[in-house]
Amino acid sequence: MTTKMPTVKFTKLFINGDFVDSISGREFETIDPRTEEVIARIAEGSKEDIDVAVKASRVAFDHGSWPRMTGVERARIMMKWADLIDENAEEIAKLDAIDAGKLYHFCKAIEIPSAANTIRYYAGAADKIHGEVLKPAREFHAYTLMEPIGVVGHIIPWNFPSSMFVTKVAPSLAAGCTMVLKPAEQTPLSALFYAHLAKLAGIPNGVLNVVPGFGPTAGAALCSHMDVDKVSFTGSTKVGREIMCAAANSNLKPVSLELGGKSPLVVFDDADLDKAIQLAFLGVAYNKGEICVAGSRVFVQEGIYDEFEKKLVEKAKTWVIGDPFDSKVQQGPQVDKKQFEKILSYIEHGKREGATLLTGGKRVGNKGYYIEPTIFSNVKEDMLIAQDEIFGPVMALMKFKTIEEAITSANNTRYGLAAGIMTKNLDTANIMSRSIRAGTIWINCYFIFGNDIPYGGYKMSGFGRDFGLEALHKYLQVKSVVTPIYNSPWL
Ligand code: NAD
Repeated sequence: MTTKMPTVKFTKLFINGDFVDSISGREFETIDPRTEEVIARIAEGSKEDIDVAVKASRVAFDHGSWPRMTGVERARIMMKWADLIDENAEEIAKLDAIDAGKLYHFCKAIEIPSAANTIRYYAGAADKIHGEVLKPAREFHAYTLMEPIGVVGHIIPWNFPSSMFVTKVAPSLAAGCTMVLKPAEQTPLSALFYAHLAKLAGIPNGVLNVVPGFGPTAGAALCSHMDVDKVSFTGSTKVGREIMCAAANSNLKPVSLELGGKSPLVVFDDADLDKAIQLAFLGVAYNKGEICVAGSRVFVQEGIYDEFEKKLVEKAKTWVIGDPFDSKVQQGPQVDKKQFEKILSYIEHGKREGATLLTGGKRVGNKGYYIEPTIFSNVKEDMLIAQDEIFGPVMALMKFKTIEEAITSANNTRYGLAAGIMTKNLDTANIMSRSIRAGTIWINCYFIFGNDIPYGGYKMSGFGRDFGLEALHKYLQVKSVVTPIYNSPWL
């Protein structure tokens, strides 16, 4: 199928309200995973560019209007930005489809409008930020102020370029912060488009800067910069650890980390079987498995296991893989060659470890990074495919007998991002949801996100929460003000 490519209008760094070349003049290629061809050459930000962007952000924070506006004024501009995103949803969806291999129709109808709504959610919170009046200790009066934390560095991955962008930027804008965002090197296109729309909406120069570039250069420079007051990161656990070190070794800036996962879906004998199969499959195939909360470990109780396995494999065989612009297609290509090869090598490893390959396991076609949804059974919990985050459409299917066994197995991971429980028994649902150590528990559903539902990890899946008012508070800090009122020895 041939699809008209979108015009890529923005390829430079967005600093202080202008699109500019990188200081070094270097560029990098962003690749279309459907064709393995170059889409565009993007200005490559480095340490020096990050420094310029941070300076612009610092000036905007220390002297500019954004942190000093009323919440209502910030909200009005953010609402306008959200409207512009809705108006340009088709264009942005095309950019995410060619850059990340995401389903175009889904992005246009769901992901981009949801991104606009995330901005509206936080715009609505911008004029509700306030401290507290505290009980005076006899002759003292005290209150707290909630102040924006300052200049924020945001670093995001490539799997949800639009949602990730607004999830970081919207609450920090509402809080009155200024910021520098580094998009993933695989997916810089929509981030630059969002920056252009932010300028049109009236977000003042220097408040939002977008610097594409690589992690060890631009990303690392942002994390160790002495003038960055906070880093908010979404990405791998390995890089999260490096970011914490960089923050600790520079100005001790606080960090929040949304990291990897190996989430369990636990299906009990009494579950609605068809629904459980549907969710289990989507849990690992949605967005080609490139989702941090993928339900990549599926535990099924022994009474329904055989039927579950048979129907799950049938379901996998009906899944449509192909060009993400085709409305019948359910799965596009993996984001890039590196990810594609990594997934295939995990599949080979699974076979070598002795797991049974029930379906999938191969590349689809000979051009583009397409991989069949892959299901392994006879998986042992200590196998690599049951422990490592594969970040692709690969499921480890396992059997359990008792609820105690299910709890132990679900928790047998260094991660703790999410978990799903399928049962009609309220006691089972309650015991499981309180026993699994993960930031989100879905009961009889999966992948339900909401602007007001805090989202983040336990254990090595990180700390800090995106979404909800929890996320707004990441970008605020409390100042206590105390003053004598009467009969004070201090007067
Ligand atoms: P990654 O950690 O390799 O890269 C993420 C971002 O960090 C990119 O922008 C990259 O350029 C940057 N980066 C890399 N090295 C850096 C360094 N030394 N200093 C600063 N920045 C650096 O992750 P990825 O492969 O792009 O994304 C996949 C990972 O992200 C998976 O582990 C996935 O689970 C995780 N993820 C988590 C969530 C969540 O909400 N918890 C959401 C999406 C993805």
